[in-house]
Parts: sequence; structure tokens; C-alpha cells
Amino acid sequence: MTGMLDAWLDELALIGGNGRAVNRFAWTPELLAASRWLVQRLHELGLEAEIDPAGNVLGRWQAGDGPAVLVGSHLDTVPEGGRFDGALGVLSALEAIRRLKDEGFEPAQPLWIAAFNDEEGTRFGTTMFGSAAFVGDDQAELRDRVSTDGVPLSEAMRAAGFDFDLVPRACLIGSVGCYLELHIEQGPRMELQRMDTAVVTGIVGVRGYRVELRGETNHAGTTPMENRRDALAGASRVVLALRDAALSAGDITVNVGRIDVQPGGTNVVPGTAVFFVDARAADPQRFASLDALVRECVGTAAAQERLTIEISPTHEHPPTPMDPALQQLLGDEMRAAGLTWGELSSGAGHDAQVLARHVASAMLFVPSQGGISHSPDEFTPSEQREPGVAVLTAALRKLCSTQRP
Ligand SMILES: [Zn+2]
Repeated sequence: MTGMLDAWLDELALIGGNGRAVNRFAWTPELLAASRWLVQRLHELGLEAEIDPAGNVLGRWQAGDGPAVLVGSHLDTVPEGGRFDGALGVLSALEAIRRLKDEGFEPAQPLWIAAFNDEEGTRFGTTMFGSAAFVGDDQAELRDRVSTDGVPLSEAMRAAGFDFDLVPRACLIGSVGCYLELHIEQGPRMELQRMDTAVVTGIVGVRGYRVELRGETNHAGTTPMENRRDALAGASRVVLALRDAALSAGDITVNVGRIDVQPGGTNVVPGTAVFFVDARAADPQRFASLDALVRECVGTAAAQERLTIEISPTHEHPPTPMDPALQQLLGDEMRAAGLTWGELSSGAGHDAQVLARHVASAMLFVPSQGGISHSPDEFTPSEQREPGVAVLTAALRKLCSTQRP
């Protein structure tokens, strides 16, 4: 019994959708329409619901006087995104609440649902803006952040009917006791291991670097090979060394996704190469070791090619473990339901890592067919969604049945 979930997924996919891909970005009419659509669905279920000053949709099933159990995900997408990343978490939460209402469940404490704004950060690079506002992070420095289409954030907000100065009013974390999020896996591990559902143990830590290697620009034909100081050759050594290190470590990932070579002539030895490294690990010790690994790979390659190095960290997010008691609860529900399940770390960032800094938080995954996501081809069929929805519903029933201290 999938209830309303299939119909809701279809309806939501039409908002900002072109029949194949979905495009819903922060402060655009498409995302606002999806948010208003969700507010309507929440009202239909008898919840109080509104869009808060940070653009989050917040629905409240008020009961008792304890801290709220919060469940949610996000409705925004990457460019040409799919129908399930974020949306499935929000709609599964909606379906769980619908089922609890349907069975006449009376929560002993508030049950809230959130669709956090701008999890992907597609338009302004303001990843997890909505959940950061919800937990009270100071985001004042983002006011003049300019979008990919050239609009400052504060102006885009004004055009959408919001006020940047009021964003701090979205902070309600003080009323929340714990957070649950269902999400598609966005990778192939569950499919490979034939898991119905997975308990997320933690969200990987990420280190980002900008690396500049400098050699000597020169003539491509007259400079002897042994005399060259080729910055791109050095960068290539770094890319391969990092990949090999990650392959042999097994529990880290490293990516170089962007490289600029100067001066960029087809008949010129590249004098400068600037590239960006994204290194991730879920294990805190591994995460700590990533910095030395990146610096060592760069240092060795630069020495081999006689290049000078400038290396600067661009961002650092430590690994975020999920709450052990909530992991246990989710695992117990999966076992009780007779599911084939396992434990996985998340290689992608999620709103849960923002919430986890303040309240007990946990996530469960359902499979992504072919491991594909951030693509119109991302797909999780109904029969692979249902176990996750059932576990989420059972977990919420349990969490809201007794007052948490
Ligand atoms: Zn997501």
C-alpha cells in the first residue's frame, strides 16, 4: 500500500519539471510553487503550515508540550535534476504523517515536517541555507552573494517576497528534540548488496583545496623535453597519485573536477595549472589524515616536475556521525519489518549534518536504481520506496509515543 505517495511524486515532478528533468532553485517561482503546493497538502492533513522567513516549508502537528520530532528533507534540485533527490524524503514524511493520521494516532509530543530551502545551493552556492537558518547559523555574509544569473541574494529574496534581514527568525531549533530524514542513496552500494533499506552511520567529512602549480611557459617545439617545467604534467601526476591513494585506502574519495591551464596555447608549454581537490572520508581519523595526503601528493609531483606550489584550503566540513540511539531505533524497525538492511555512510552532504550539530539526528536510505542521482534518470521504483516509508512511519510513531527527555 503506497497510499498517496505515487500521486504526490507525479504532481510535484510537474512543478519546475519539463516531463523529464526537474529544475527548482532557491527563490525561483518554481521552488516557491512547490513549497506552496506542500503547504496545501499539509493543510489538507490538518497540520499548521507555512513558508518561514528562510524559505523553508514548516508543517506542525501540535501535541503535548515536549520538544518536536522533526522529519524532512528538501524540495530544491540541481540543474536538470531528478524527481527523487530530496523530494522523496519530504513526500515520504508527508505520507508517514498521513498514515499516522489515518490510523488515529495521537502523538504525545509535536511532530513537525520541514522542506528545507536551498539544500543544493545551485543558484547562489548557498548550500543548506534553509537548514542553517533553522538552526540559527549566522549567514549575514551571504547577503550580497551573487547568483549564477547575476542577482544578489538579498534582491532575489525581495523579488520572491522575502526579506534577507528576517532570515534569523527562521531559527526554531530550540523547540526540536530530534531529526529524521529519508533520502535516496545516490550511489550503487545498496543495489550491489541487495539492501532494502540502510541506516546511515554518518555523513562524510569534506576537505576542499585550490592548488596552483607554477613552472615555465615556453615554446612547444624548441624547448627540449628534459628542460621543461610543465605545470600540467605536474597536475596530471597529482590527479593520478590522489586517485591511486584513494583506491588503495578504500574508505576515502578524492576528486579533481576542475582545472585551468595557462596560457592555454596549443603550441605552448603550460606554465601554470590551477586545480581544485575534493577529498572525503567518513572516518574521523581518515579525515584528519587527508590534509597530509593531499599535500604529500602535490609536493611529490611538484618536485618531479620542478614546479612551485601554492596550496590553499577552500572549505572543510568534518565528518558528522548520526545519533547512535536513533540509528538503533531505525535498525530495530528494519529488523522487525523483516527487511534486508545494512549500515552505510553518506558520501553526499545532507541537511541532517546541519541539524546533527544541535539535536540527535539520523537518516535512512532507500536504493537509487543504477546508483544514479543528480540526473533526470534518478529513479527509485514504488516497491523500493515502500520499505523506507514503512520504517520512517514506524520510527515516527515510536518517537512521538513517549515524551523524550
Ligand atoms: Zn538531497
